[in-house]
Amino acid sequence: MAVTYEIPKDVHYSCTMCGDCCRRFDVLLGPGEEEVIAACDWDSAVPELGDTKVSMPSANPAIKACQLARRDDGACVFLGERNQCLIHEHFGEDTKPVMCRMYPFAFHRFGDRVGVDVAFSCNAVSTDRGDNIERKVPEWIRLAFGDDEPQDTRKHKLKKGMPVDGNVVWEFEFFLVQFLKNTSLPFADRVRSCLQFLKLTTTGNPTASTAGMFRDAIAEGIPKQLEKLPVESCMDKTQRAAFFTWLYLSLSLRPSTFHMMPTKEKIATRGRLLEQGERFVRNEGRPAIRGEELSVDFDAIAGVDVSIFRDGGTSFLEKYFTVKITGKRYLIRTGRELPLQEGAWQLFLMYPMTIWTAKALAADRGSARVEDADVRAAVRALDHQFGVLDLNDIDGKQRQAMEFALYETDLAVTATNELLEIR
Ligand code: SF4
Repeated sequence: MAVTYEIPKDVHYSCTMCGDCCRRFDVLLGPGEEEVIAACDWDSAVPELGDTKVSMPSANPAIKACQLARRDDGACVFLGERNQCLIHEHFGEDTKPVMCRMYPFAFHRFGDRVGVDVAFSCNAVSTDRGDNIERKVPEWIRLAFGDDEPQDTRKHKLKKGMPVDGNVVWEFEFFLVQFLKNTSLPFADRVRSCLQFLKLTTTGNPTASTAGMFRDAIAEGIPKQLEKLPVESCMDKTQRAAFFTWLYLSLSLRPSTFHMMPTKEKIATRGRLLEQGERFVRNEGRPAIRGEELSVDFDAIAGVDVSIFRDGGTSFLEKYFTVKITGKRYLIRTGRELPLQEGAWQLFLMYPMTIWTAKALAADRGSARVEDADVRAAVRALDHQFGVLDLNDIDGKQRQAMEFALYETDLAVTATNELLEIR
Protein backbone atom coordinates (compact mmCIF):
# COMPACT_ATOMS: atom_id res chain seq x y z
CA MET A 1 0.00 0.00 0.00
CA ALA A 2 1.34 3.44 -0.92
CA VAL A 3 2.07 5.69 2.04
CA THR A 4 0.23 8.97 2.57
CA TYR A 5 2.16 12.19 3.13
CA GLU A 6 0.79 14.56 5.75
CA ILE A 7 1.67 17.95 4.29
CA PRO A 8 1.20 20.97 6.57
CA LYS A 9 -1.37 23.50 5.40
CA ASP A 10 -0.69 27.19 4.86
CA VAL A 11 3.08 26.99 5.35
CA HIS A 12 5.24 29.09 3.03
CA TYR A 13 8.87 28.93 2.05
CA SER A 14 11.20 30.33 -0.57
CA CYS A 15 14.87 30.83 0.30
CA THR A 16 15.55 34.47 1.22
CA MET A 17 19.32 33.96 1.19
CA CYS A 18 19.73 35.04 4.79
CA GLY A 19 22.53 32.47 5.15
CA ASP A 20 21.29 31.52 8.60
CA CYS A 21 21.05 27.78 7.99
CA CYS A 22 24.49 27.72 6.30
CA ARG A 23 25.95 29.22 9.48
CA ARG A 24 24.13 27.09 12.01
CA PHE A 25 23.58 23.57 10.78
CA ASP A 26 25.80 20.55 10.22
CA VAL A 27 25.29 19.37 6.63
CA LEU A 28 25.74 15.61 6.38
CA LEU A 29 27.07 14.34 3.07
CA GLY A 30 25.42 11.45 1.22
CA PRO A 31 27.33 8.83 -0.80
CA GLY A 32 29.39 10.42 -3.58
CA GLU A 33 28.48 14.02 -2.70
CA GLU A 34 31.91 14.94 -1.40
CA GLU A 35 33.53 13.63 -4.60
CA VAL A 36 31.12 15.61 -6.82
CA ILE A 37 31.89 18.87 -4.99
CA ALA A 38 35.64 18.18 -4.87
CA ALA A 39 35.70 17.45 -8.64
CA CYS A 40 34.30 20.92 -9.50
CA ASP A 41 36.74 23.30 -11.16
CA TRP A 42 37.24 25.52 -8.10
CA ASP A 43 40.59 26.86 -9.38
CA SER A 44 38.75 28.66 -12.19
CA ALA A 45 35.52 29.52 -10.32
CA VAL A 46 36.77 30.59 -6.87
CA PRO A 47 40.57 30.13 -6.74
CA GLU A 48 40.73 30.64 -2.96
CA LEU A 49 38.64 27.51 -2.57
CA GLY A 50 41.00 25.47 -4.78
CA ASP A 51 42.66 23.71 -1.82
CA THR A 52 39.74 23.80 0.60
CA LYS A 53 38.82 20.57 2.37
CA VAL A 54 35.22 19.75 1.48
CA SER A 55 34.37 17.64 4.51
CA MET A 56 35.09 16.95 8.17
CA PRO A 57 33.92 14.11 10.46
CA SER A 58 30.36 14.46 11.67
CA ALA A 59 30.00 16.39 14.93
CA ASN A 60 27.83 13.52 16.18
CA PRO A 61 29.79 10.28 16.77
CA ALA A 62 26.56 8.27 16.40
CA ILE A 63 26.53 9.31 12.74
CA LYS A 64 29.03 7.64 10.43
CA ALA A 65 28.71 10.11 7.51
CA CYS A 66 30.99 13.13 7.09
CA GLN A 67 29.66 16.66 7.11
CA LEU A 68 30.54 19.75 5.08
CA ALA A 69 33.59 21.53 6.46
CA ARG A 70 33.06 24.69 8.47
CA ARG A 71 35.13 27.86 8.57
CA ASP A 72 36.55 29.12 11.87
CA ASP A 73 33.50 31.37 12.28
CA GLY A 74 31.29 28.26 12.10
CA ALA A 75 29.85 28.94 8.63
CA CYS A 76 29.97 26.42 5.77
CA VAL A 77 33.18 26.86 3.75
CA PHE A 78 31.07 27.44 0.61
CA LEU A 79 29.03 30.37 1.94
CA GLY A 80 29.81 33.49 -0.14
CA GLU A 81 30.05 37.14 0.92
CA ARG A 82 26.50 37.91 -0.19
CA ASN A 83 25.15 34.88 1.69
CA GLN A 84 25.03 33.03 -1.62
CA CYS A 85 25.99 29.37 -1.90
CA LEU A 86 29.13 29.25 -4.03
CA ILE A 87 28.41 25.68 -5.15
CA HIS A 88 24.95 26.75 -6.35
CA GLU A 89 26.26 29.95 -7.94
CA HIS A 90 29.04 28.36 -10.00
CA PHE A 91 28.00 24.77 -10.56
CA GLY A 92 24.21 24.76 -10.25
CA GLU A 93 21.71 23.75 -7.59
CA ASP A 94 21.94 20.04 -8.40
CA THR A 95 25.59 19.99 -7.31
CA LYS A 96 24.70 20.96 -3.72
CA PRO A 97 24.31 18.22 -1.11
CA VAL A 98 20.76 16.85 -0.91
CA MET A 99 20.52 18.04 2.70
CA CYS A 100 20.99 21.66 1.59
CA ARG A 101 18.50 21.26 -1.24
CA MET A 102 15.93 19.77 1.13
CA TYR A 103 16.22 22.30 3.93
CA PRO A 104 13.94 23.16 5.78
CA PHE A 105 12.04 19.88 5.28
CA ALA A 106 12.24 16.45 6.90
CA PHE A 107 10.15 13.30 6.56
CA HIS A 108 9.25 10.82 9.30
CA ARG A 109 7.28 7.67 8.53
CA PHE A 110 5.01 6.30 11.26
CA GLY A 111 2.78 3.39 10.28
CA ASP A 112 1.14 4.04 6.92
CA ARG A 113 1.75 7.77 6.92
CA VAL A 114 4.72 10.09 6.54
CA GLY A 115 4.85 13.30 8.56
CA VAL A 116 6.34 16.26 6.67
CA ASP A 117 8.19 18.50 9.11
CA VAL A 118 9.21 22.10 8.40
CA ALA A 119 11.84 23.92 10.45
CA PHE A 120 10.48 27.16 11.91
CA SER A 121 14.03 28.22 12.70
CA CYS A 122 14.06 29.18 8.99
CA ASN A 123 13.44 32.92 8.50
CA ALA A 124 11.17 32.42 5.47
CA VAL A 125 8.98 29.81 7.18
CA SER A 126 8.62 31.75 10.43
CA THR A 127 7.58 34.92 8.55
CA ASP A 128 5.37 33.16 5.95
CA ARG A 129 7.46 34.28 3.00
CA GLY A 130 7.49 32.47 -0.32
CA ASP A 131 5.52 29.72 -2.07
CA ASN A 132 3.02 27.45 -0.41
CA ILE A 133 5.05 24.33 0.36
CA GLU A 134 2.30 22.00 -0.86
CA ARG A 135 3.61 22.59 -4.37
CA LYS A 136 7.21 21.88 -3.38
CA VAL A 137 6.81 18.71 -1.37
CA PRO A 138 6.72 16.27 -4.36
CA GLU A 139 10.12 17.59 -5.47
CA TRP A 140 11.52 17.06 -1.94
CA ILE A 141 10.10 13.57 -1.74
CA ARG A 142 11.85 12.74 -5.02
CA LEU A 143 15.10 14.17 -3.70
CA ALA A 144 14.90 12.33 -0.40
CA PHE A 145 13.77 8.90 -1.58
CA GLY A 146 14.04 8.69 -5.39
CA ASP A 147 11.84 5.77 -6.46
CA ASP A 148 11.88 4.14 -3.02
CA GLU A 149 9.39 4.54 -0.26
CA PRO A 150 10.37 5.87 3.19
CA GLN A 151 10.40 3.10 5.77
CA ASP A 152 9.09 2.96 9.33
CA THR A 153 12.26 1.81 11.07
CA ARG A 154 11.84 3.10 14.63
CA LYS A 155 10.12 1.61 17.65
CA HIS A 156 7.28 3.80 18.85
CA LYS A 157 6.03 4.17 22.41
CA LEU A 158 3.21 6.02 24.10
CA LYS A 159 5.18 6.12 27.32
CA LYS A 160 7.96 4.07 28.89
CA GLY A 161 7.12 0.35 28.63
CA MET A 162 4.13 0.96 26.32
CA PRO A 163 5.14 0.14 22.73
CA VAL A 164 2.63 0.89 19.96
CA ASP A 165 2.30 0.72 16.21
CA GLY A 166 2.94 4.00 14.36
CA ASN A 167 -0.71 4.19 13.28
CA VAL A 168 -1.79 4.38 16.94
CA VAL A 169 0.49 7.41 17.39
CA TRP A 170 -1.46 9.12 14.57
CA GLU A 171 -4.74 8.26 16.33
CA PHE A 172 -3.60 10.09 19.46
CA GLU A 173 -2.33 13.03 17.48
CA PHE A 174 -5.65 13.45 15.71
CA PHE A 175 -7.10 14.54 19.06
CA LEU A 176 -4.19 16.83 19.92
CA VAL A 177 -4.64 18.69 16.63
CA GLN A 178 -8.40 18.98 17.19
CA PHE A 179 -7.79 20.52 20.62
CA LEU A 180 -5.29 22.99 19.18
CA LYS A 181 -7.81 24.10 16.56
CA ASN A 182 -10.63 24.61 19.06
CA THR A 183 -10.91 28.39 18.76
CA SER A 184 -13.76 28.49 21.30
CA LEU A 185 -11.08 28.05 24.00
CA PRO A 186 -8.20 30.40 24.87
CA PHE A 187 -4.93 28.98 23.55
CA ALA A 188 -3.67 28.22 27.07
CA ASP A 189 -6.72 25.96 27.59
CA ARG A 190 -6.13 24.24 24.27
CA VAL A 191 -2.65 23.31 25.50
CA ARG A 192 -4.12 22.19 28.83
CA SER A 193 -6.62 20.04 26.93
CA CYS A 194 -3.82 18.25 25.06
CA LEU A 195 -1.90 17.54 28.24
CA GLN A 196 -4.96 16.42 30.18
CA PHE A 197 -6.03 14.16 27.30
CA LEU A 198 -2.62 12.46 27.23
CA LYS A 199 -2.65 11.98 30.98
CA LEU A 200 -6.01 10.23 30.90
CA THR A 201 -5.59 8.14 27.76
CA THR A 202 -2.15 6.63 28.26
CA THR A 203 -3.34 4.10 30.80
CA GLY A 204 -4.63 0.61 30.06
CA ASN A 205 -4.14 -1.03 26.68
CA PRO A 206 -4.14 1.64 23.94
CA THR A 207 -4.72 -0.96 21.22
CA ALA A 208 -7.69 -2.74 22.85
CA SER A 209 -10.86 -2.77 20.74
CA THR A 210 -12.59 -0.36 23.14
CA ALA A 211 -9.63 2.04 23.42
CA GLY A 212 -10.79 4.19 20.48
CA MET A 213 -14.23 4.71 22.04
CA PHE A 214 -12.56 5.48 25.36
CA ARG A 215 -10.44 8.19 23.70
CA ASP A 216 -13.52 9.71 22.01
CA ALA A 217 -15.36 9.87 25.34
CA ILE A 218 -12.38 11.42 27.16
CA ALA A 219 -11.89 14.02 24.41
CA GLU A 220 -15.53 15.03 24.57
CA GLY A 221 -15.41 15.51 28.32
CA ILE A 222 -12.14 17.49 28.47
CA PRO A 223 -13.55 21.06 28.19
CA LYS A 224 -15.90 20.41 31.15
CA GLN A 225 -13.05 18.80 33.13
CA LEU A 226 -10.85 21.86 32.65
CA GLU A 227 -13.44 24.07 34.27
CA LYS A 228 -13.17 22.01 37.43
CA LEU A 229 -9.39 21.50 37.46
CA PRO A 230 -7.63 23.76 39.99
CA VAL A 231 -5.38 26.40 38.41
CA GLU A 232 -1.84 26.59 39.80
CA SER A 233 -0.88 30.15 39.03
CA CYS A 234 2.81 29.98 40.06
CA MET A 235 5.65 27.57 39.54
CA ASP A 236 7.11 26.00 42.68
CA LYS A 237 10.87 26.02 43.34
CA THR A 238 11.61 22.79 41.44
CA GLN A 239 9.46 23.81 38.49
CA ARG A 240 11.06 27.26 38.34
CA ALA A 241 14.56 25.79 38.28
CA ALA A 242 13.59 23.28 35.57
CA PHE A 243 11.76 25.86 33.45
CA PHE A 244 14.46 28.52 33.45
CA THR A 245 17.28 25.99 32.98
CA TRP A 246 15.49 24.44 30.00
CA LEU A 247 14.70 27.91 28.64
CA TYR A 248 18.32 28.96 28.98
CA LEU A 249 19.58 25.83 27.20
CA SER A 250 16.98 26.30 24.46
CA LEU A 251 18.11 29.86 23.83
CA SER A 252 21.84 29.15 23.99
CA LEU A 253 24.26 28.19 21.32
CA ARG A 254 25.68 24.84 22.18
CA PRO A 255 28.97 24.26 20.36
CA SER A 256 28.32 22.20 17.22
CA THR A 257 31.32 20.09 18.20
CA PHE A 258 29.72 19.18 21.56
CA HIS A 259 29.21 15.50 20.67
CA MET A 260 32.77 15.20 19.44
CA MET A 261 34.38 16.59 22.58
CA PRO A 262 36.39 14.31 24.85
CA THR A 263 34.38 13.46 27.99
CA LYS A 264 36.33 15.87 30.20
CA GLU A 265 35.75 18.82 27.87
CA LYS A 266 32.12 17.83 27.42
CA ILE A 267 31.53 17.84 31.18
CA ALA A 268 33.27 21.21 31.50
CA THR A 269 31.20 22.72 28.67
CA ARG A 270 27.98 21.33 30.07
CA GLY A 271 28.92 22.61 33.52
CA ARG A 272 29.60 26.08 32.11
CA LEU A 273 26.26 26.16 30.31
CA LEU A 274 24.35 25.01 33.37
CA GLU A 275 26.18 27.51 35.53
CA GLN A 276 25.19 30.32 33.18
CA GLY A 277 21.67 28.88 33.27
CA GLU A 278 21.67 29.54 37.02
CA ARG A 279 21.50 33.27 36.27
CA PHE A 280 18.26 32.59 34.42
CA VAL A 281 16.91 30.55 37.33
CA ARG A 282 17.70 33.41 39.72
CA ASN A 283 16.57 36.04 37.17
CA GLU A 284 19.87 37.86 37.64
CA GLY A 285 21.52 40.39 35.34
CA ARG A 286 20.73 40.63 31.66
CA PRO A 287 19.70 37.52 29.77
CA ALA A 288 21.20 36.57 26.41
CA ILE A 289 19.47 35.06 23.40
CA ARG A 290 21.66 33.03 21.06
CA GLY A 291 24.79 34.48 22.61
CA GLU A 292 23.72 38.15 22.39
CA GLU A 293 23.09 39.95 25.65
CA LEU A 294 19.83 41.91 25.71
CA SER A 295 19.67 45.58 26.62
CA VAL A 296 17.11 44.87 29.37
CA ASP A 297 17.02 42.85 32.58
CA PHE A 298 14.54 40.27 33.86
CA ASP A 299 12.43 42.87 35.71
CA ALA A 300 11.89 44.90 32.53
CA ILE A 301 10.90 41.72 30.69
CA ALA A 302 8.41 40.75 33.40
CA GLY A 303 6.53 44.04 32.89
CA VAL A 304 5.79 43.55 29.16
CA ASP A 305 2.13 43.29 28.17
CA VAL A 306 1.16 39.84 26.87
CA SER A 307 -2.46 40.46 25.92
CA ILE A 308 -1.75 39.11 22.41
CA PHE A 309 -1.68 35.59 23.91
CA ARG A 310 -5.04 36.12 25.61
CA ASP A 311 -6.80 38.03 22.81
CA GLY A 312 -6.69 35.41 20.08
CA GLY A 313 -3.40 36.45 18.43
CA THR A 314 -2.22 32.86 18.51
CA SER A 315 -2.90 31.47 15.02
CA PHE A 316 0.82 31.32 14.32
CA LEU A 317 1.38 29.21 17.44
CA GLU A 318 -1.52 26.95 16.49
CA LYS A 319 0.18 26.39 13.15
CA TYR A 320 3.58 25.80 14.76
CA PHE A 321 2.35 23.15 17.21
CA THR A 322 0.24 21.44 14.55
CA VAL A 323 3.20 21.18 12.17
CA LYS A 324 5.48 19.82 14.89
CA ILE A 325 2.90 17.19 15.80
CA THR A 326 1.97 16.03 12.29
CA GLY A 327 5.59 16.37 11.12
CA LYS A 328 6.65 14.22 14.11
CA ARG A 329 9.62 16.43 14.93
CA TYR A 330 8.51 16.56 18.56
CA LEU A 331 9.33 12.86 18.90
CA ILE A 332 12.68 12.73 17.15
CA ARG A 333 15.98 13.45 18.90
CA THR A 334 19.39 12.89 17.37
CA GLY A 335 19.52 9.13 16.86
CA ARG A 336 16.49 8.18 19.02
CA GLU A 337 12.76 8.58 19.41
CA LEU A 338 10.93 9.79 22.52
CA PRO A 339 7.75 8.15 23.80
CA LEU A 340 4.77 10.23 22.67
CA GLN A 341 3.97 11.49 26.16
CA GLU A 342 7.53 12.74 26.82
CA GLY A 343 7.72 14.34 23.37
CA ALA A 344 4.41 16.10 23.98
CA TRP A 345 5.45 17.33 27.46
CA GLN A 346 8.59 18.87 25.92
CA LEU A 347 6.69 20.29 22.95
CA PHE A 348 4.07 22.07 25.04
CA LEU A 349 6.75 23.59 27.25
CA MET A 350 7.53 25.57 24.09
CA TYR A 351 4.39 27.60 24.77
CA PRO A 352 5.51 29.30 28.02
CA MET A 353 9.06 29.49 26.63
CA THR A 354 7.70 31.34 23.58
CA ILE A 355 5.77 33.72 25.84
CA TRP A 356 8.88 34.55 27.88
CA THR A 357 11.12 34.92 24.82
CA ALA A 358 8.59 37.09 22.97
CA LYS A 359 8.40 39.35 26.05
CA ALA A 360 12.19 39.55 26.16
CA LEU A 361 12.39 40.47 22.46
CA ALA A 362 9.65 43.09 22.82
CA ALA A 363 11.38 44.63 25.85
CA ASP A 364 14.70 44.63 24.01
CA ARG A 365 13.27 46.68 21.12
CA GLY A 366 11.77 49.11 23.63
CA SER A 367 8.15 48.02 23.27
CA ALA A 368 5.77 47.69 26.22
CA ARG A 369 3.77 44.94 24.54
CA VAL A 370 4.36 41.75 22.61
CA GLU A 371 3.49 41.94 18.89
CA ASP A 372 3.05 39.17 16.33
CA ALA A 373 6.61 39.69 15.04
CA ASP A 374 7.97 39.01 18.55
CA VAL A 375 6.06 35.73 18.75
CA ARG A 376 7.44 34.63 15.39
CA ALA A 377 10.99 35.66 16.30
CA ALA A 378 10.69 33.80 19.61
CA VAL A 379 9.58 30.60 17.89
CA ARG A 380 12.41 31.03 15.36
CA ALA A 381 14.98 31.28 18.16
CA LEU A 382 13.58 28.35 20.15
CA ASP A 383 12.88 26.01 17.25
CA HIS A 384 16.54 25.76 16.35
CA GLN A 385 17.37 23.83 19.51
CA PHE A 386 14.02 22.03 19.60
CA GLY A 387 14.65 18.42 18.71
CA VAL A 388 18.38 18.84 19.31
CA LEU A 389 18.31 19.56 23.01
CA ASP A 390 18.17 16.27 24.84
CA LEU A 391 17.60 15.63 28.55
CA ASN A 392 20.29 12.93 28.23
CA ASP A 393 22.81 15.76 27.74
CA ILE A 394 22.19 16.87 31.31
CA ASP A 395 23.88 14.90 34.02
CA GLY A 396 22.81 13.13 37.21
CA LYS A 397 20.68 14.81 39.81
CA GLN A 398 19.90 17.86 37.72
CA ARG A 399 18.45 15.64 34.99
CA GLN A 400 16.35 13.72 37.50
CA ALA A 401 14.95 16.99 38.86
CA MET A 402 14.20 18.20 35.33
CA GLU A 403 12.55 14.91 34.39
CA PHE A 404 10.44 15.08 37.50
CA ALA A 405 9.30 18.65 36.82
CA LEU A 406 8.69 17.94 33.13
CA TYR A 407 6.97 14.59 33.29
CA GLU A 408 5.44 14.40 36.78
CA THR A 409 4.10 17.92 37.27
CA ASP A 410 2.02 20.29 35.13
CA LEU A 411 5.04 22.47 34.37
CA ALA A 412 3.88 23.66 30.92
CA VAL A 413 0.54 24.75 32.39
CA THR A 414 1.93 26.32 35.57
CA ALA A 415 4.63 28.24 33.73
CA THR A 416 2.04 29.51 31.22
CA ASN A 417 -0.33 30.59 34.00
CA GLU A 418 2.46 32.46 35.76
CA LEU A 419 3.67 34.24 32.64
CA LEU A 420 0.14 35.14 31.49
CA GLU A 421 -0.95 35.92 35.06
CA ILE A 422 -3.86 33.49 34.84
CA ARG A 423 -5.38 32.98 38.28
S1 SF4 B 1 26.73 23.98 0.54
FE1 SF4 B 1 25.78 25.92 0.06
S2 SF4 B 1 23.62 25.74 0.76
FE2 SF4 B 1 24.82 24.08 1.73
S3 SF4 B 1 25.41 24.95 3.75
FE3 SF4 B 1 27.12 25.34 2.28
S4 SF4 B 1 26.68 27.40 1.49
FE4 SF4 B 1 24.79 26.66 2.44
